[in-house]
Amino acid sequence: MLFDSHCHLTLKDFHHDIDDVLKRASKKNIRIIISGDTLESSKEVISLIKEKKHIFPHLYATSGYHPYYSDDFDPAVISQYRTLIKESSVVALGEIGLDYYRENSLPENQKKTFQAFLKLSIEEDIPIVIHLRDAEDDLINILDKNGYSHKGTIHCFSSENPDFAKEFLKRGFMISFAGQVTFPKADSLREVVKEIPLNRLLIETDAPYLAPQARRGKRNEPSYIEYTAKKIAEIKDISVEDLGRITSLNTMRVYRINDDKAFMPKICYKIKNSLYINLTNKCSNDCDFCVKKKDNFIYGYNLKLKNEPDYEDIIRLSSDEEDFDEIVFCGLGEPTYRLDLLKKVAAYFKGMGKKVRLNTNGQGNIINKKNIIPELEGLIDEMSISLNAENKEKYQEICKSVYGIESYSDILDFVEKSSKSISVTLTVVKIPEVNIEKCRKISQNLGVSFRVREEYFKNI
Ligand code: SF4
Repeated sequence: MLFDSHCHLTLKDFHHDIDDVLKRASKKNIRIIISGDTLESSKEVISLIKEKKHIFPHLYATSGYHPYYSDDFDPAVISQYRTLIKESSVVALGEIGLDYYRENSLPENQKKTFQAFLKLSIEEDIPIVIHLRDAEDDLINILDKNGYSHKGTIHCFSSENPDFAKEFLKRGFMISFAGQVTFPKADSLREVVKEIPLNRLLIETDAPYLAPQARRGKRNEPSYIEYTAKKIAEIKDISVEDLGRITSLNTMRVYRINDDKAFMPKICYKIKNSLYINLTNKCSNDCDFCVKKKDNFIYGYNLKLKNEPDYEDIIRLSSDEEDFDEIVFCGLGEPTYRLDLLKKVAAYFKGMGKKVRLNTNGQGNIINKKNIIPELEGLIDEMSISLNAENKEKYQEICKSVYGIESYSDILDFVEKSSKSISVTLTVVKIPEVNIEKCRKISQNLGVSFRVREEYFKNI
């Protein structure tokens, strides 16, 4: 699934072939948010969706007022928007915002108009879609002055300054990228894309504008979202399928679009060619950088379990997945808490000829009060063990093991013993408190591989 989170399908560019445009998108499983940027166009979007929804069920609307028209803004229209946004298809207020690049309206009028809509979004508790060009400082000032803490998106983000993106991330916004990321000269924008955490990323076409490079000069349309998705997946080093799932989920979360299947807690979840198995949310650590402190949604999956799975659950759910080369025990907790289940599931997949990897905090022996390594031999091919610090004091400060400061030496002992029969990689998360080079040295001394991991929620 892909989600075109912003386009303008009521413009005259689409009058002659809107059904074909929607069919092409629907064939590729693309969901669409159609944006209004005047009162008139916002009404047209709602009518279009009413007319087409029985054939194309995944169409949504936003109602907005473009900053270009701020010189003509009449505060009386706010009451009409208050009515419009109660329509079931409307998921956000926008696009609204500031544009000092073209200055079609005076900045003072733009600010007043934007504030009026911001007030409406707070009163009606509806997310916003922001159009922003060359006016970052003023926009941030207005958000802060109004104590804006609702959610929303900076659509078609085009600033080449990653610091601005970080300011919006800090304030809870999603950042949406359009076809410009595919342009040959857009290296700086692609650098900004690298900095955006996956959980805050949206994609859009902004059709009929900004056709991606492969269709440059032509009218853009939602089915071309795949070019932007492909480029961003390449930048983020993930598959297009993963990028599509992640950005679609982000879109549904920010605009409160319900989809029970997408939001359901996941026991088995696929990333690239690996099938991950989420055995438990229980953990002996409370790491400062643990993803679950910020969000339970990782790589487009909800990993917060309602109930811990049993063997039958895992076998049944894994049979829905195809084309995976390995299974990985990894979720929002420490898998060795469920040692017997882990062994039984590993044996099942080994029997199918799959490679089996275990991601662990290395405290399995203390958790199970015995040496578990002989039990894992022949079942686990690879282990990623989180080292996370260069000494026991630092480890306890960052990871806060329930077993106290001595847990660090237990982990080193676990690494030493397990590396005799299992291929082991020690990992550290790249955070300023940790001395990466000292950790690398420890892994060299233990004769195991070493990998530095990026913090999943960096910049938030
Ligand atoms: S060991 Fe892993 S799951 Fe446990 S708290 Fe640390 S990061 Fe989270």
